[in-house]
Amino acid sequence: MAARVLDGTAVSRSLLESTAERARTFADSAGRPPALATVLVGDDPASRTYVKMKRSRCARVGIASRAVELPADTSTERLVEEIAALSADPAVDGILLQHPVPGQIDERAAFEAIAPGKDVDGVTMHSFAAMAFGEPGFHSCTPGGILRLLDAYDIGLAGRRAVVVGRSPILGKPVGMLLLARDATVTYCHSRTVDLAEVVREADVVVAAVGRPELVRGEWIKPGAVVVDAGYNPGNVGDVEYAAAAERAGHITPVPGGVGPMTIALLLEQTVQAAEAKG
Ligand code: NAP
Repeated sequence: MAARVLDGTAVSRSLLESTAERARTFADSAGRPPALATVLVGDDPASRTYVKMKRSRCARVGIASRAVELPADTSTERLVEEIAALSADPAVDGILLQHPVPGQIDERAAFEAIAPGKDVDGVTMHSFAAMAFGEPGFHSCTPGGILRLLDAYDIGLAGRRAVVVGRSPILGKPVGMLLLARDATVTYCHSRTVDLAEVVREADVVVAAVGRPELVRGEWIKPGAVVVDAGYNPGNVGDVEYAAAAERAGHITPVPGGVGPMTIALLLEQTVQAAEAKG
């Protein structure tokens, strides 16, 4: 039986509509639209494309965006100064630092210059701790988007065995914490995991967050499992061997059109939420 496709494009559309409505209500009462500052360091073409896409989505839902662009040789100190200024600027509600940043920059120091109330991309230690403790706060956008997508299809998580492949601070780790908060039994896999196939075979829910084309093979998928592919590799290829996995899975996200659009939608929703909270 073929898997049901988790349509991130369709679900994100309704999230964007409700975000646009909230942005309008905010603008009516505040006399200005919610505002997102995007910070791009250097001229990596993929990063530039991502920022452009996020800013164009902002415009479509009535969020103002301010683009800050810095040269590739920017120092940590200079970047921290720029982000600290945005953190202090009352006209800015949310801050997105596009990453990865060039190698000479201490990325963690740059993220931590984002005021917690403006961390709409969910990258600071404050947001991470809030996710880990199950306290209110901003979610990392991809993990938060994944949970929203599963919720849209009423996929129950309590008691289910979830395997997260990848443990990066913005994706693998926080998605595992959000699944744990929903009472899934969570296992993390990473580059040192022994016999990844055997671990994945046990999973009722698999989240692939690695960045290696089709690393997760279709034959590893337990029949009926929920397969979430957060990977995005050149040529629109995910981290899951899609066609073979779709034959066994109960639900599966496509690449593109699965996790990606949910990530942007969550960023915009959290920007409006930050504006509302600031008043
Ligand atoms: P990352 O920081 O490079 O982390 C990759 C993770 O995969 C690491 O934890 C690494 O393990 C693990 N890994 C590497 N090789 C492995 C292997 N052979 N077996 C098992 N685990 C392995 O990447 P990321 O930022 O989390 O991104 C992961 C993917 O998601 C990329 O394709 C990226 O483009 C995509 N992504 C998509 C969105 C979206 O909006 N859709 C957003 C962000 C990222 P170690 O920790 O041991 O090194």
